[in-house]
Amino acid sequence: AKQDGRNTFRFFEPAMDAALQRRRRLEHDLRNAIRKNQLYLDYQPQFGLSEGQLTGYEALVRWWHPTEGEIPPSTFVPIAEETGLIVPLGEWILKTACTYALGWPSDTKLAVNLSPAQFKTQDVFELVRRMLVETGLEPERLELEITESTILQNTDKVIDTLSRLDQLGVSIAMDDFGTGYSSLSYLTRFPVKKIKIDRSFIDTLGTNPQTSAIVSSIVGLGQSLHVTITAEGVETEGQAAMLKRWGCDQVQGYYFGRPEAEVPANPLEDEPLDRNVA
Ligand code: C2E
Ligand code: CA
Ligand code: CA
Ligand code: CA
Repeated sequence: AKQDGRNTFRFFEPAMDAALQRRRRLEHDLRNAIRKNQLYLDYQPQFGLSEGQLTGYEALVRWWHPTEGEIPPSTFVPIAEETGLIVPLGEWILKTACTYALGWPSDTKLAVNLSPAQFKTQDVFELVRRMLVETGLEPERLELEITESTILQNTDKVIDTLSRLDQLGVSIAMDDFGTGYSSLSYLTRFPVKKIKIDRSFIDTLGTNPQTSAIVSSIVGLGQSLHVTITAEGVETEGQAAMLKRWGCDQVQGYYFGRPEAEVPANPLEDEPLDRNVA
């Protein structure tokens, strides 16, 4: 048994070492990624469902690593959060996105994701205000996507920050809705203007009657609470048609447009939207 234990230990150790070493290497490389221009942003379009008009773009961060290639944000954003690198990273994302959005028509909004770690480690209001001043983007054009875990911190600080952003004209969207400890009671305490129904619910629309019931209820709730409802991860015409029938306000997903590094200033004029929803 002793022998087995030792063998098992020796068997796992190199694998754990490799994972740990890769992580340390990524952490080190991420530290230099901004300076070395390895980071960039993709922008994914969002459309109004009733008229098919472009409403805005969501900025999504990308890392092109010199030897490992594309590293997904689901890998490096958590590393940034744990190491505090989310502060310079978050600042770079906001500044880059706001600057880019200046080239769009003035009715096109910019959505930027904020991590719960940013609320823990810095004054998010000051950060956003400073980025708006430095870039010259109107506050009304900026939408910040937060998750329920930010809301769950539920501190006076988070409430205060979101209220001040709201007063400034910046709007708040609740991302990944339905995956956390969803309770709509926070809508009375936080100035949330938009709810983004998580992709996992949209995935099974049409194949799972329960998700259809959940999604149509969320849409109905949004209507009675005067909160804009966006469905994310819409991949098929069938999903889009159902959402439109229920009165969902906005859509985002591969069926309508993938995240892209360069986006036309006016995609509706440059290449008419050929995605007609019945
Ligand atoms: P998210 O905020 O929920 O972003 C939406 C994700 O869904 C993006 O993945 C997008 O590429 C993907 N997506 C959009 N439409 C479709 C679709 O029709 N089908 C499928 N299968 N996927 C779709 P991505 O870019 O890999 O980002 C993953 C997550 O990483 C984001 O989820 C967000 O939580 C985080 N993230 C990305 N960019 C940032 C950022 O700038 N700051 C922070 N704090 N987090 C970010
Ligand atoms: Ca998002
Ligand atoms: Ca989301
Ligand atoms: Ca997500």
